[in-house]
Amino acid sequence: MAVAQSTNRKRTPTPPQAAYTFERFIKGRGNDLACSACQAVAEAPGRAYNPLFIYGKVGLGKTHLLYAIVNEAERRRASHKVIYITSERFAIELVQSLRQGRTAEFRRTFRRTDILLIDDIHFFQNKEGTQEELFHTFNELHGSGRQVVLSSDRPPEELAAMEERLVSRFRWGMVADIQPPDYETRLAILTAKAEESGLELDYELLSLIAGRITSSVRALEGALTRVAAYMELQGLAPQREVLAKIIAQDPQGEPPLDVERIKAEVARRYGVSVHQLEGKGREKRISQARHIAMYLARELTASSFPTIGASFGRRDHTTVMHACRKVKALAETPIFQSEIEDLKRRLTAPR
Ligand code: ADP
Ligand code: MG
Repeated sequence: MAVAQSTNRKRTPTPPQAAYTFERFIKGRGNDLACSACQAVAEAPGRAYNPLFIYGKVGLGKTHLLYAIVNEAERRRASHKVIYITSERFAIELVQSLRQGRTAEFRRTFRRTDILLIDDIHFFQNKEGTQEELFHTFNELHGSGRQVVLSSDRPPEELAAMEERLVSRFRWGMVADIQPPDYETRLAILTAKAEESGLELDYELLSLIAGRITSSVRALEGALTRVAAYMELQGLAPQREVLAKIIAQDPQGEPPLDVERIKAEVARRYGVSVHQLEGKGREKRISQARHIAMYLARELTASSFPTIGASFGRRDHTTVMHACRKVKALAETPIFQSEIEDLKRRLTAPR
């Protein structure tokens, strides 16, 4: 039976699953809880949280975490039987076993495992037969203290076409969500992935990608892959403007952050008007806000110094360069630094 993608018969998982480990999973505010819960389950299956229900939008690391449990559990206890399966595969195998009169074998496989991980459980909606089977499998495993891990693109209560008795069981243990990564996490993920693939990209370019691509980790990986392809062809790292174009090719990419939005956000934050930011006023409060807005425009958009200058009341590019240097120097102090980081976070939060 071709069900078990990973059992103790096959101790070394094959790529890409092998790469999906906890070591390679970057923790951040959005996934910290889910990751810790998965680690706890891998260390003490059936005892930590049972079931463990992980949910989050596509490309945020659910499958990675499930495989990390598989890899870790196998590393620790070779005698443990572990099955990872997608919901789709589970449904297909069930139908086939029914057709071929092999349901007993099907049940044996799933009900004798020590850890059962089912990915993308939302796929079971409207599939009554499959839900029925899962219900009994769940009871058998849970009842005898064996571990069940489920992933879904939405929380249990939003699984509309799912039997209530299943939904309530999903909530017996721990429900943990994964939120899109914040700016710092995106930067950390990009840095780690660039290093893993031997891509030499400096901080400035990585932070530009982190500022632009906010939707998912998969989108970040996609951008890095395109940058890698460019570097392979050209033999050098892209300039900021080119990089911005490469990033913009992302079909799911966000509309790029523009200087206007930065001005609006900075103005709001410092209680000045956009008009004042663009104007000639030299009052300290205004000029400092102006410098910060220029700096953020340079950091978070692909705009050149002259372009930024032009959008701040036709100032010269040297004025912008001067402002950026000034803010960089100020950012050496912790308080000011966290202020800037906070602004960056706001501006690059998923919209
Ligand atoms: P999902 O199953 O939620 O759709 P995946 O687990 O397939 O998402 O993740 C998409 C890609 O992003 C994978 O290549 C995965 O390794 C990577 N990824 C997701 N989250 C992280 C993270 N926190 N650290 C490192 N890589 C991650
Ligand atoms: Mg997945």
